[in-house]
Parts: sequence; structure tokens; C-alpha cells
Amino acid sequence: MTAPQSAAATEALLKILERQRRNDYAHPALAAALDGFLKRELSGELGSSPQRRWLKQLVARLPAGGYAALTPDQRRAWHTMVERALNGAAPPDARTAASPPAQGRQRSPRGEPGKPEAETPKRSSPNRSRRPRPPEGEIADDLETPATALGRVSAPARRGLETLGVQTAYDLIWHLPIRHEDFRNVQRIADLLFDKAATVVARVESSRLVRMRKGRVATEAVLSDGTGSIRGWWWNQPYLHKQLTAGLRVAVSGTVRQRGRYLQFDSPLWERLNESDDDSLEDNPHVGRLVPVYPLTRGLPNRTVRRLTWRAVRDYLPLLAESLPPRILEETGFPGEREALRVMHFPKREEEIEVARERLAFQELLAIQLAVLSRKREARRRNDAPRIAMDGPFLDNFLGALPFQLTRAQSNALTDIRNDIARSEPMARLLQGDVGSGKTVVAAAAMLAAVKAGYQTVLMAPTEVLASQHYRTFERLFVGRGESALYDFEVTPALGRRVRMALLVGSMSDARKREVREQIEAGELDLVVGTHALIEESTALRKLGLAVVDEQHRFGVLQRDALRSKGSPHLLVMTATPIPRTLALTIYGELDNSTIDELPPGRQRVATRVIEPHQRDEVYERIREEAAAGNQAFIICPLIEESDKLEAASATQEFERLCNGPLADLAPRMRLLHGRMPADEKQAVMADLAAGDASVVVATIVVEVGVDLPKATVMAIEAADRFGLAQLHQLRGRVGRSDRPSSCFLISDTELPEAQKRLRIMERTADGFELAEVDLETRGPGEYFGTRQAGLPDLRVAKLTDHRLINLARNWANRILDEDPHLRAPEHQLLRHRAGGINVSGAAAVH
Ligand code: ADP
Ligand code: MG
Repeated sequence: MTAPQSAAATEALLKILERQRRNDYAHPALAAALDGFLKRELSGELGSSPQRRWLKQLVARLPAGGYAALTPDQRRAWHTMVERALNGAAPPDARTAASPPAQGRQRSPRGEPGKPEAETPKRSSPNRSRRPRPPEGEIADDLETPATALGRVSAPARRGLETLGVQTAYDLIWHLPIRHEDFRNVQRIADLLFDKAATVVARVESSRLVRMRKGRVATEAVLSDGTGSIRGWWWNQPYLHKQLTAGLRVAVSGTVRQRGRYLQFDSPLWERLNESDDDSLEDNPHVGRLVPVYPLTRGLPNRTVRRLTWRAVRDYLPLLAESLPPRILEETGFPGEREALRVMHFPKREEEIEVARERLAFQELLAIQLAVLSRKREARRRNDAPRIAMDGPFLDNFLGALPFQLTRAQSNALTDIRNDIARSEPMARLLQGDVGSGKTVVAAAAMLAAVKAGYQTVLMAPTEVLASQHYRTFERLFVGRGESALYDFEVTPALGRRVRMALLVGSMSDARKREVREQIEAGELDLVVGTHALIEESTALRKLGLAVVDEQHRFGVLQRDALRSKGSPHLLVMTATPIPRTLALTIYGELDNSTIDELPPGRQRVATRVIEPHQRDEVYERIREEAAAGNQAFIICPLIEESDKLEAASATQEFERLCNGPLADLAPRMRLLHGRMPADEKQAVMADLAAGDASVVVATIVVEVGVDLPKATVMAIEAADRFGLAQLHQLRGRVGRSDRPSSCFLISDTELPEAQKRLRIMERTADGFELAEVDLETRGPGEYFGTRQAGLPDLRVAKLTDHRLINLARNWANRILDEDPHLRAPEHQLLRHRAGGINVSGAAAVH
């Protein structure tokens, strides 16, 4: 296990705790996973930040049985303390530290935005509470009235609200319905039509409890309004017949069915009416209107939420302050925030809903744009990056020595970078390009230029396997084993020597790491390739001129920040996961964009087929043929979310099954590769593969990023439907890296038509952008990068696929920042608060 990386560990910890919260802290497997995590991640060096020390204290306070031994209430309390510690609140004092965690819920602190180690005041910590909290003093404190004070709430419903994170009137107002049921059609019973939704105002004639076979019960009531009568039928609600007493005046909404000779409402919504209520039902949340349907949780009936929300909207919503400045409201014609929120819950007409939604979505997108664009401007203003020249002779030398010609797209990207690093505003550029499009060589040109200009340069990769591979590439380019360096001191005469480089990864011995760090500090190294180990506090990059981050979506925001804080370098982030334009503008909005949209010539398209498990033998046959021809194959094992332990176990099992069964003849040439293997074993496997001593690798998703085996011609992916398309595309990119014809088998037994359809798209297209768009549309941004993506902004209303609204928000954000760069004007206060509270960790805070 590598040394713990504080930022990554913290993010992962919060993620697990968050999932726990969503499961009422009652999920046993998650509890076990958390204990495993704490053991792994927090046992080693902890670094010296106060947060880390408090975290350690909190871990020390767990009983012998670990987190799993706590009751759900204690787990909740522990979670709160972890959040507090990471938020920079006071550490648990010595007195409480000795006692077991307090019972019961503790409110997480509000009004004190997280202050992790970050220097930037406006960034939120990823561990802020989930709701955007109103800033202190900005709005009436009444909005903080407990939700449970707004009406009667049963104990299970109370727990349901807690699970949803709904604590206050403000939370209720922002707990938006997922849809509305149309029960506006108030009619006389005589006029009812079959199969149509309608509402009637009637009296209960009679009601009774009906006992059916197998212990099922129902309540039946006869309702009439003078024009006719209709039956109401409710399954499983025995208490209802007592509430629906004869003579009671009610409104009932539902779909009209015919049952024998009767008209019947099946499980309709109903509401008791006062004698004084008028028949139009104007004033009723449950019936006779567009009725809101809320996202629910166990124990919490929609009716309860509706009742509480009705009160919140009526009595508290008027206290809410408007987030958008008057000018925006005037120019766009958007409704006010209060009006939009009212409509979201209790619209009068359907058409209103879309307008309200759009307005609220705009507000969310505007906050994101303000967050990313102000960071972008901030970076520009610093203006203290080194000017690095890539002059004509340098470029000619560089390009002339390559064994191939750059593609047009590579040249364009290189030109963008060349222009950027020649200036003193720090570059912040995203270099996108499909797997195999040749991003590394483009980065290498810039890195060599930085070295030539007398600066240090680093490349940070998400895994050790990938870091080592990059290191070998750079050795080949710059240092050479024997005579093979492409660029030595003769090609870069200004340098007068070879590029001095080193690898820095967690699994290296402490002594070696220390040595490398000392050499970096002494300026004895020009180029360092590494993993997170690069950004540990102890690494002092004094002359950093250019930092390159590969497969950047795998890193958390704090890590990128840490890298940036090592000086004032130009930053190039590379990704092979195509990023749809809308995402590029939102979560990556502060980065300029270069895209390599073509592959080097001669690449073969990978023939892709979706097959069922019983067809596996065909795949094995194919692997055998390819192995005989000297080629190689990947077999990818199913993705198991959140548990690389289970994932590793299942890969091991699959490996053994294949070695002892279908591929027994190839057993000596088969290798296993998964995330939990010790680094040296991984290296050995990679070496065997690179040397051609192995033909087949059975692997978990670890190979997704960057493994480069030119002879690989077959990829088989088990349980392919569990992966996102972008991920499958990445995996598929591991084969077809040469002129040999290659194939990819997507093995899936899914019967879901949607999932099958999704996989079929892989057969049809090799366009990563198209696949990414499909992913984003069908799985949402959270899934888009795969399950291990760092956080994405928490959006209630907006969609990250709405081009038009994103552009509108971006334009407004630029206008606002032009006039008020720090959002100091009074009318921007709430926007400033919202922008600061946005969870842009996946993204906006990219550097
Ligand atoms: P990625 O963009 O996936 O990181 P790499 O930089 O690893 O891709 O490049 C993939 C392979 O293509 C490497 O072996 C690289 O040397 C080679 N390559 C890069 N550019 C070209 C080119 N213009 N023509 C031919 N081969 C190229
Ligand atoms: Mg790469």
C-alpha cells in the first residue's frame, strides 16, 4: 500500500460516510468497508496537518470492534465529528475524546464554510453540508425553523426527513418534487369518465374494513355528491376506515375505474374538507390541483412532505431573499426566486413549471460559472509564471527527431501550448484526446522546452503502472538506454547536458524517496514523473515551470491544488475521457481547451461485438489463435463498486478458473493484474507483458488508464453492462494500438433492453465524444466518469447537458465578474455565497 495521500483519503472517507448517511448508517457492508478503509489509509504516516491529527484522534476513539460496532446513532455522531474536524472546527477536546461518541444527532456546523488547507477563500470544502445554506444574517432566522415544527410528524417520518437531510423550513422549500400528478379536474360524480384522472368533492356515505384472502386488508368507502356515487378503495390501510367516518366532507383525487357495476377510485389521494372550504379547492395541497410528488424515503409518506411543504411555502417562503440581482431578472424575464419555488411545489398551470425550473437551473449554473470563471480570472491575474520559449529551431529539432510526423491535431494542440507557456499568465489548459491520439509526445515537447529554459517540470499520473510507463517513454525520448535517446544534449545544445530525470512513486523505499526529494530540492533534477507522492508536503519543487497531470479526472481537487501551490507553474491537464462540450464549459470551465480529434494514421478500428456468456468459448478460441500468432489479450473482470477487495478477489477467482479450465493450455503465459497487488508484483506482470513473456492478462479496471501494449489484439470485458460507455471505450483503447487487426468482446447477460441498447452503440461507433454524450445523457454526470470519479457539483434542477442555459449563465457570469470581480456588491452577496458553496471538486477547482 502506498503512503496515505491526505486529500485522496479524505475525499474517499467522506464519500463512504456520505453513502452511509444515505443508508441511515445501517448498511453493514459499508460499515465493514469503512473499517477496512480506516485501517489501510490512516495507519501509516498521517502528515502533520491539524485535520489529520484530529482525524486520527477520532479513529482512536472508535471502540475495539471499530466503526462497525457503533449503533447507527453513534455512527451519525461520529460522521458529524469527522466533518467538523475536517472543516477546521475545534478538535474534539480531551474530555470528550475519552468518552464514547455522543448519542443522537449533532447538527453539522453551518455558517462556517470549510477551511481545509486551501489558500483560496472562495472554494468550498467537499465536506460542506449537502444543502446550500443561507448565509448568516442574510435572511430571516425563521427559515431555520425545524421542519418538524411545521406540522405533526410521526417518528418514522421524522427519520425519513433526517435521511433526506431535510432539517428546516428552508430545506423543505428546496426539497423539490420530482413530478406532479394532475388532479385539477374537479367534477361532479355524474360527469366522471372512465380512465380519466379527476377530483370530486363528496361526502362519505359509509366505510368499512374489507378482509381479503391471505390476510390482505383494504378500506372501502362509498362517496356521493348528490349527482351520483363512487367507491373509494385503498389497499393495506386498515386505519383509514376509522378516519373516513360517515358524513365527512372530503375531496378525492384519482383515476376513475369501472369495477363491475361501480365506478371506483383505486387508492386515490384524499383530503378532509372543512364545511367552509369552497368547492374549487384552491387552498389544498393534496387534491384538486397539480399535486407534487416528492422523492421519498422509507417511513416518509408523500402526504406528510406535501403537508409540511405547503406550510413552509405559505409561511416561510416569503422570507427568502432573492439570489439574482434585479438586472438579470429584468433582462431575462425570469420569475423571482420565491415565485419559482412556489411554482415548483404548487403550480397552478403546467406551463409555469418549465419556466420556474429554467430559472432555478439558471441560478445553479450561474453559481457554477461564477465559481469557475472567477478562479480562472484569479489565476490569470497572478501573471507570475515563467515565460518558456519554444522557438523555431527548438521545435524543428524536436519534431525532426521523432520517428513519425505529428498529426494536424497534435500540431494544433502544440501550438496552443506553445503560445500559452510563452506568456507570464499561467497556462491552465485541458488537452483532450482519445486513447492513442498521442498526447504524451505533445506534453513532452513542452516539458523539454521548460527544462531547456532552466525550469523543473513534473508529470503526475494516477497510478504507479502508468507513472512507470511514462517514465520509460521519457527515458526513451530524453535519456536513452545506451544510444537510443531521441533527445540528448546534441539535440538540445542549449542545455549542454542530458535531461536529468527520476521517478517518484509511493512504493519506492523511503530512503530512495528521500533521495529523490533532496535532488529535486537541490535543483539536481529537471524532470520528475510520479504519482501522488509528488505532491506530498515534503516535496519542494522550487523551480517548477510546467506541471502536467495525466488522466486528470482521477485526481481530486486538493491534489491538483497542491501541485499548483508548489510554485506558479503552467499547468497542462490531459484526459483521454472525452469531455462533452457542456461539461467542458461547466465543471472544467476554468480551463482552456485543446482537443486532439484524430488518431495517428494506420490505426485499425477495433471490431467490437456484444456477446452472451454462453458464447465465451469463441472468445477463448480467438485468444488462443492470437497468442499463437505472438499477440496478446486482456480479459477484464467485472467492476465491483466501492470495493476493490471484492474486485480483486473475483479477478483472482476468474484467473484460476481460466487457468484450470478453458485456457489451461495457456496457463504458463497468463498473468493476473489487480489493484490490490503489491507494486512490485504489478511491475513484474507489466514487465512480462512488455517483454512478450506473457500472452494473456486477467485484470480489473486498473488497466483502464494508459497501459500500452502494442501487441494486444483481443479485449474481452466481463459484465460489460456494468461499465459506462466512456469507460468501455477507454478499455477498448488498450487494443488496436498497432496495425494488427484487433477485436473487443463485450460479454453481458443483461436482459434490460436499455442496457443492451447502450452496449450496441459500442459496436457501431468508435467516436469517444459520441459515447461520452450518450453516457452523460443516460447515466448522468455522476456516473459519467465511472464510479471513481471525484465529486461533481450537486445540482437539484439544472442539467449539465443544457447547452443553451449554460451559455446564458456563462455570459452573465462574465458580465458580472467584469464589473464586480470579487462579488462584493450587495446585490451579488447571495450569488457569491452560492458560488462559494458549490461542490466543484471534480472540476472547477482544477488547479
Ligand atoms: P495517449 O494520447 O493515449 O496518451 P500516447 O501518447 O500514449 O497516446 O500515444 C500512443 C502511441 O502513438 C505511442 O506509442 C506514440 O509514440 C504513438 N504516436 C504518437 N503520435 C504519433 C503520430 N503522430 N504518428 C504515429 N504514432 C504516434
Ligand atoms: Mg496517455
